[in-house]
Amino acid sequence: MDDFYLWYPPAERISYVILDWDRNVEEVGPILTDADVVCDICNAEVSLRPVPVWNGNALCDDCLGKFVPDWYQRVSVMGDGEKILEDWYEQRRARWASE
Ligand SMILES: [Zn+2]
Repeated sequence: MDDFYLWYPPAERISYVILDWDRNVEEVGPILTDADVVCDICNAEVSLRPVPVWNGNALCDDCLGKFVPDWYQRVSVMGDGEKILEDWYEQRRARWASE
């Protein structure tokens, strides 16, 4: 069974941390905000909040439909699922209106 969940990005997060072989921090990436989420499959901007995550990959609208074709049923049975679907609909409508 694949893994599908919804993710609320924190206000700020570190993009990456590189450790050396002794687990010492070698490099810390820039800070990302909750607006900075890209699709792990195609690199498109992910505009839906909460972010759909499939097998550890944040998905954009297109990839969500491609890789999780039954996403509507799966989200609707989650806690607050109906509310989340309504929010997604509003977010899509707002985006389409601005394009
Ligand atoms: Zn994508």
